[in-house]
Amino acid sequence: MTASPDPPLASARQQDDESTNRLGSAVLRGTDTPLVGGYDALLVDLDGVVHLGDQPIPRAVDALRSARAGGLTVAYVTNNAARTPADVARGLTGYGLDVAAADVVTSSVVAARLLADRLPAGAQVLVVGGDGLRAPLVAAGLTPVASADGAVAVVQGWAPEVGWPQLAEATVAVRAGRPWMATNLDRTLPSPRGPLPGNGSMVAALASATGQQPESVGKPKPAMFTGAAAAIGARSPLVVGDRLDTDIAGARAAGYHSLAVLTGVSSAADLLAAGPDERPDYLGRDLDALHARHPAPYLDGDGAHCGAVTVTTRGDVLGEPGGGDGLDGLRAGCALAWAGRLPAERYDDVVRALSLD
Ligand SMILES: [Mg+2]
Repeated sequence: MTASPDPPLASARQQDDESTNRLGSAVLRGTDTPLVGGYDALLVDLDGVVHLGDQPIPRAVDALRSARAGGLTVAYVTNNAARTPADVARGLTGYGLDVAAADVVTSSVVAARLLADRLPAGAQVLVVGGDGLRAPLVAAGLTPVASADGAVAVVQGWAPEVGWPQLAEATVAVRAGRPWMATNLDRTLPSPRGPLPGNGSMVAALASATGQQPESVGKPKPAMFTGAAAAIGARSPLVVGDRLDTDIAGARAAGYHSLAVLTGVSSAADLLAAGPDERPDYLGRDLDALHARHPAPYLDGDGAHCGAVTVTTRGDVLGEPGGGDGLDGLRAGCALAWAGRLPAERYDDVVRALSLD
């Protein structure tokens, strides 16, 4: 790890080019120095990466503190529109992280900034949502309102108080031709009782009533990550996330490298099955992977190899399945699966052999 990002940035790029060329397609990259050394900033998802529900994920806080101590800037990027950046920062500070409100980018913040770019200062924006959405609108110089009368735009983000009266006002405004923006289209929210309706489900109600669809700004839209990078002055950020369809897809859309961790929603089997737009550059069990070396997998006629593990085209796992914390085998499996050389019906067997199920 180093306080000066320049030399490691150059060497990381060289190595990326080598591993990309060797395999002839976009695949997992390798580093022979700790991963964080190749980047000047981290854009970190929250739920499933830093915490699960209200509990911090083991090792996450120490790993992020070490990255900061090593000179990286850290921004937290979340689709969750319900809490204000100050609320989120307070929660993270409670875990022992040094976080200011300006280090937190919610989908509400990005929506408010985009609206402020397009509307006159002080313009009235109808809010379908709560304080997590109203506060960023005010901060962006706009006026949140509760009535369709006089509103020049509609913005919608999840909040527990969203109900029929707000949806009815929004229906009037959208049917009158007002632009409609959604903070995100996540259909569900995780909860201890299983998935519950997320903003995408509430958007679906309004879409059904109006026949219209909103513009969405949340991940996987790249504005979340490009906006966060611009806000902290990052030149070469690494995105860290647990969901392939939002975090990793959004990183690819923004043109940034990404690390997928297995502490949240997406599983080892999901990684094997990932389509080209949802494939990360690096894999980790958890945020300790930021400070680890990542061996690159490579393919040959027999299958794929990484460290001391081989995954064959028949889905057999040979060598040391536990190597690299079990992830060397997953790296090899991903290289094979992403090259179309591992049958999908063997994914579960590979994951089981690696004890990643
Ligand atoms: Mg997450």
